[in-house]
Amino acid sequence: MLSVLSPGEVKLPDGRSVEFANLDIAATAPCLTTVAETVADLLPFYGSVHRGAGALAQRCTREYDQARETVAEVVGCGPGDHVVFTRNTTDALNLLAHALPLGTTVVTFDAEHHANLLPWRRPVRLPAPSSPDAAVAALDAALTRLTGAGTTARRAGAGAASRGPLLVAVTAAGNVTGELWPVARLAEVAHRHGARIVVDAAQLAPHAPARLPDLGADYLALSGHKMYAPFGAGVLAGRADWLDAAAPYLAGGGASAEVRADFAVRWHTGPARHEAGTPNLLGAVALATACRVLAGEDHAAEQALVARFRVALAALPHVEELRLFDAAAPRVGIVSFTVPGADPDDLGAQLGRRHGIGVRTGLFCAHPLTRRLLADATARIDPAAAPAPAAMRASFGLGTRAEHVDRLVAALAGLA
Ligand code: PMP
Repeated sequence: MLSVLSPGEVKLPDGRSVEFANLDIAATAPCLTTVAETVADLLPFYGSVHRGAGALAQRCTREYDQARETVAEVVGCGPGDHVVFTRNTTDALNLLAHALPLGTTVVTFDAEHHANLLPWRRPVRLPAPSSPDAAVAALDAALTRLTGAGTTARRAGAGAASRGPLLVAVTAAGNVTGELWPVARLAEVAHRHGARIVVDAAQLAPHAPARLPDLGADYLALSGHKMYAPFGAGVLAGRADWLDAAAPYLAGGGASAEVRADFAVRWHTGPARHEAGTPNLLGAVALATACRVLAGEDHAAEQALVARFRVALAALPHVEELRLFDAAAPRVGIVSFTVPGADPDDLGAQLGRRHGIGVRTGLFCAHPLTRRLLADATARIDPAAAPAPAAMRASFGLGTRAEHVDRLVAALAGLA
């Protein structure tokens, strides 16, 4: 199993020292040891990218270009695709929103993370579905309405004469519930209606292969810091045509091929068009390294920990899991829950102080969804209770141990 850097032990008020249990991996994951070593090896040679003639610049340019190739290979890009390095998933989705042809209609679900909810201008928002099948049916119905006929042969992305292109924007794995969305089926529906699909793979990529061809996606977005690769890089990967036709995301050096005396600009096509400014070399190398090593990882241990936690949670009558789909729906290492009557922020602080556990409390940048799930979960456990203003989330991955999970369960059991 791959190893990650550990923050070590923390001292508890009772005098004991325990290993810090980082159960907030879904927010930002710890650094893979391999990533840290790769970055450390490169640091002495750190220099400019695409801008210098010296040995350092040449090496750094090679490393940056190689990082792009590695990511392209791991996410399964084809010849007509680009990999653009961005700051994170939010940046990647905003870049795509910026690059949409005029008149594009975006269809999404209101269960999305804000990064996939807010960048789109006047999207068609479908209500959060109660099952993967319902998601597929709702998308099919919405696209049938939007195209006027479900099976009209519209060339993907080209748009009908009367209407602009369509883009479906969905998450692959929810950051609140960890549930997997039926992305390949949604992609099939989208393509049948002539729409393209972008997948928010921020929470899938750390836990399972996120490949364009397997997902059936036209674009995917991910974040390095959630894939055990700090240093501030993300990726938008996918079809080149809209990206090459759009105005540069940022205007400046690197994106411009030539600026003439009258200041007329000829812009690059390709990823450089949207990567103006000095690139984040270490971020790109870290992200590519993480993509490469995670591609060979099996996530059985993490799945076992999620199952262990969920079974234990289900046995606590005062705690209720948040979920959109059936309890048996497949998921990644994320479990959110509520303890009606307890203040979530206070509880989170206590878990940290008394038990050396880091969880997340809040609405997880998915406010509409989390509020709805809090109301549903509270009603299941105590119909008379008011939903808590925020939820709690534990997330698992590389570096999580069974002892961390058991410590959290024991702490929650102690609240009864
Ligand atoms: N989508 C999902 C599903 C996420 O969980 C997150 C991060 N919480 C994002 C998008 C945004 O990622 P970032 O903050 O790295 O841009």
